[in-house]
This record gives sequence, structure tokens and C-alpha cells, in this order.
Amino acid sequence: MEPLEVARGVWVFTSRIMHTTTTVVAGEPTSGGRAALLVDPAWEPDELVAMADWLERTGLTVVAGWATHAHYDHVLWHPRFGAAPRYATPETARRAREQQRLLVTGLGPDWPADLAPLVGDVVALAGDRIPWDGPVVRVVEHRAHARGHGALWVEDAGVLVAGDMLSDVEIPIPDDEGLAGYLAGLDALEPFVREAAILVPGHGSVADRAAADTPIGRLEQDRGYLDRLRGGARDSRLRDAPDWLRDQDERNRDWLT
Ligand SMILES: [Zn+2]
Repeated sequence: MEPLEVARGVWVFTSRIMHTTTTVVAGEPTSGGRAALLVDPAWEPDELVAMADWLERTGLTVVAGWATHAHYDHVLWHPRFGAAPRYATPETARRAREQQRLLVTGLGPDWPADLAPLVGDVVALAGDRIPWDGPVVRVVEHRAHARGHGALWVEDAGVLVAGDMLSDVEIPIPDDEGLAGYLAGLDALEPFVREAAILVPGHGSVADRAAADTPIGRLEQDRGYLDRLRGGARDSRLRDAPDWLRDQDERNRDWLT
């Protein structure tokens, strides 16, 4: 499992399940090697081990973790990543604590017992910056997809780690706050999306300002979908989409009533 270096010092792994991404941001050298921030490590246990192997080979030591939101595929960890603090927004940390058993259940009966206690074991970050000796990484919190959803903005590299938003393989999945909350979340992300050279969605492929599939294009696509949904129209992209996406589209229509 080799990651893609999407910007200098920023790597993205993609899981075999649901195109789930993991982002690594390199920081300053420490006594144990070069520091690294590990975002949403996912998914299967052997993939987490391969990630730990890569970090070791590359001389990167995890000094901080980040979980974008309290869904089970975004709050995983492996002992080999070490005991660095794993941060999340206060709302995500609260939910992860409250729903810890549910999160583990969501991973299925085969999830290894030794990894189960690590699921959702995150702490609330006070403030909007990752406290580490590395490039400035800001938290962009909003309520689309999940309350307390925290995207990360890696300022110097111009990388937006978006969490479960702005995907090329998913449609918007509103939760908690419905379509209005989702649109407000897109508004909150927009200034960063406009500035981003690279956008990393939680599921799917990286969008690149220098390519055909751009960060702002993703935002327009999601807004367009929600506009059509609110206008009662079907999205033509869904015609050939997998069943689960068509089902999600049906569920999204429930927010209209
Ligand atoms: Zn999610």
C-alpha cells in the first residue's frame, strides 16, 4: 500500500474499501524522526499495518492524529501509530465517546478485539489549529454530513482535507441538520476550496486545481446536486450509479418534506 504524494510533505493513502482516504502531513524533525500528522487512518487492519510500515520506512513519527468526524471509518487507529494525541472537534470527541460501542459494531464482527478500544478514542481540540511543531494546519468546523465535522486546511501546501464532503464517488450525505445544514457547510468550506491547490475527499480521488477535476468543480457539483434535489429533479449522474448511491438519493429526498 503506497501513498500518493499530493503536495510536498502531504501523502494520501487510499483503502480498498469505499476509496477511503488517509492523509499524512509531515512536520519538523524530532528525536524519533520526522514528525507526522495522521488524518483518518483507514480502513482494514492489514492496511493500517501497511501504513505503519510505510511511516517507519519513511522515517515519520506520528505526533498527532485527527479524526474528521465521528463515523466508524474515520476514527480508527493502530497501536503501531503510537500514543500520540488524537484530536477532533469537541462535538466529534463527545459523539465518539458516547457512541464508542456503536462505532465498533459498525466495523463488523470481525474487527480485531485488540483494535476495538482504539476506535473513537479521540480528545477534543480547543482552538482551531493543530498543536504541533509542523506547518500551520487549521480546522474548518461545520455541520454538514455530521455535526462537528472538522476539515483541515494545510495552509502552505494549499491542501484541504475535506472529510466526507466534495467526493467524486459519493453524492452529498446530509445528516443531523438536513439540506440547509449541508449547504451551510459547503459555504463554510468555500473560501478554502477556492484557495486549494489540492482537495482530498474522505472517499474518492484527489481533486487538483491544475487538472480537469478541480476543487471548486467538486463544490459546484455538490451544490448543483442539492439545487436539483430541492427543485425535485433527478441527477443524471445517478442513472448509472451503484444501488447504495441511488438509495442515498432517495433518503436525501426525505429531507425535502
Ligand atoms: Zn462519514
